[in-house]
Amino acid sequence: MLLEVRDLHVEFHTRDGVARAVNGVSYGVDAGETLAVLGESGSGKSVTAQAIMGILDIPPGRITGGEVVFQGRDLLKLREDERRRIRGAEMAMIFQDALSSLNPVLTVGDQLAEMFTVHRGMSRKEARARAIELMDRVRIPAARERVKQYPHQFSGGMRQRIMIAMALALEPALIIADEPTTALDVTVQAQVMELLAELQREYHMGLILITHDLGVVADVADRIAVMYAGRIVESAPVHDIYKAPAHPYTRGLLDSIPRLDQKGQELYAIRGLPPNLMNIPPGCAFHPRCPLARDVCRTDEPPLYEVSPTRGSACHFWRECLDD
Ligand code: SF4
Ligand code: MG
Repeated sequence: MLLEVRDLHVEFHTRDGVARAVNGVSYGVDAGETLAVLGESGSGKSVTAQAIMGILDIPPGRITGGEVVFQGRDLLKLREDERRRIRGAEMAMIFQDALSSLNPVLTVGDQLAEMFTVHRGMSRKEARARAIELMDRVRIPAARERVKQYPHQFSGGMRQRIMIAMALALEPALIIADEPTTALDVTVQAQVMELLAELQREYHMGLILITHDLGVVADVADRIAVMYAGRIVESAPVHDIYKAPAHPYTRGLLDSIPRLDQKGQELYAIRGLPPNLMNIPPGCAFHPRCPLARDVCRTDEPPLYEVSPTRGSACHFWRECLDD
């Protein structure tokens, strides 16, 4: 395994109490594999990613347990300077909002070139040439000209390509993309996702794709981990999930994907709201929203049951859900 997260716990200490954002998450991704992490906002998917990247150390966030094993080493045991080196060269992150991640007063060429001068010790001229190459690689037209432009002079889709180029620059072993296409139009979304998938294959990277939209990951993910209230509730190969979800929450997410043949119809949405992380419901955290809930669900927290050797579901009634 390239990366293995084991039993990770993260808390946020606030004036109103302790928010338990991540409650025992385990997942892994191999080189050349894409793991989609799915869930509504507040499910803990971004916080888990920030813990992996080591950008969570600022209070009030605190890792209270678990391991993040990357290339055989537990990152949580490393010194900050070691982590910083890994974060620069071995793993990179792509965020939803490129405009706030890029420096507005530097040309994109200078920002890309800086990766090579700082981390690879290249001359400015060499670095500039590599920057243009990279912009070509992420299919930004007229790269030689546009390298002199500022982030605000690019469209949202083009900016996201620049973010991908920045992430790829040092050829990391792992990329984490947090809602990389959420801010884009649907057609642009598909193009950017396709590009990301293509580069992931070409560079044989591990890719963790964080999204709330099951619709965008169907063609690119190998596995899916579904998160709810800071836990993994289902983990399975992507085809298994599309064929038949083994958790009522996954089913709800699947049913909320818009389909062409349902045009004009009201979309199914999961009733109710995600729980307050300062006050997670006892038993199965999903029980207040679950159409299959019964008494045991309100008292006994479901473990991640083994549905098959490659599949787990944290639902007492996963068999029923599969057969449904
Ligand atoms: Fe629903 Fe119960 Fe399964 Fe939780 S354990 S998902 S409440 S049926
Ligand atoms: Mg998020």
